[in-house]
Amino acid sequence: MSSNRRAIDTRVGLGVLLAVLAPAFAGPARAAVVPGGVGAGGAVSVADVICVKQCIAVHKVRPGSTVRFRGSDLEEVSQVVFRGAGGPLKVTPMRRTERAATAVVPEGAVAGRPYVIDQAGHQSRPAPHKLFVLAPTTAPAPVVSSPATAYPIAGPHELWEGFGGTREHGGVDVGAACGTPLVAALPGKVEYNKYESRAGNYLVIDAEGVDADIIYMHMTAPSSLKVGTLVTAGTPVGTVGDTGNASGCHLHFEYWMGEAWLGGEAVDPLPYLKAWEAAG
Ligand SMILES: [Zn+2]
Repeated sequence: MSSNRRAIDTRVGLGVLLAVLAPAFAGPARAAVVPGGVGAGGAVSVADVICVKQCIAVHKVRPGSTVRFRGSDLEEVSQVVFRGAGGPLKVTPMRRTERAATAVVPEGAVAGRPYVIDQAGHQSRPAPHKLFVLAPTTAPAPVVSSPATAYPIAGPHELWEGFGGTREHGGVDVGAACGTPLVAALPGKVEYNKYESRAGNYLVIDAEGVDADIIYMHMTAPSSLKVGTLVTAGTPVGTVGDTGNASGCHLHFEYWMGEAWLGGEAVDPLPYLKAWEAAG
């Protein structure tokens, strides 16, 4: 891949010319063989940009929506670039990992194919799919607004331990009295309802409308929800407990982009928890 890139870097000028003359040329089928835009040479690349929060649809957003760039070497991203009516709009991503970078769509963004710029100034190719941006001033209220959300603990709680850190904590621990109701944070479908020696009684909900899995661990007892059950935000899913490897009653909460354990990526749930709490 990298040697292939180097071999065709000399054609960057042609690539830019073709991209200008025929934007369709820069389609996804070409992603593997055509270098990036001006300054190409870094491996930073964007496979897709999808909406993950305050969405109208997967590729339809408004200013203020959160989008996730998926691709490779995205931990190197220093800026994401949206098309604006008056020129490119550059935004600093909120979060970056090798495979994903998230950013908020800025005011003034218009429909286009966003791209990213890495710390060395290399620019990725535009995302293969167009991101449609509804202008807030002219757009009617969307029929489908962001899904209703709920804070997962329906009762007094306190933050115990955050994500990551020296023990690479895969979620956030929130302390609450054993027996406090747990509710679905987002609408979705029950994917797993199991017991495991460390997780205790745990539940995984495949969130609807976003490509994410949400996990509740250490529940008092197995959830009464059968696998396949559809839930809405606020649906009771179980109660706070201390089953499994838990020192005290708390919810160990995980948020995975993509499929939990199966190619997905656990991300810091705290921004989501804060947003859900604020919305409630
Ligand atoms: Zn934990």
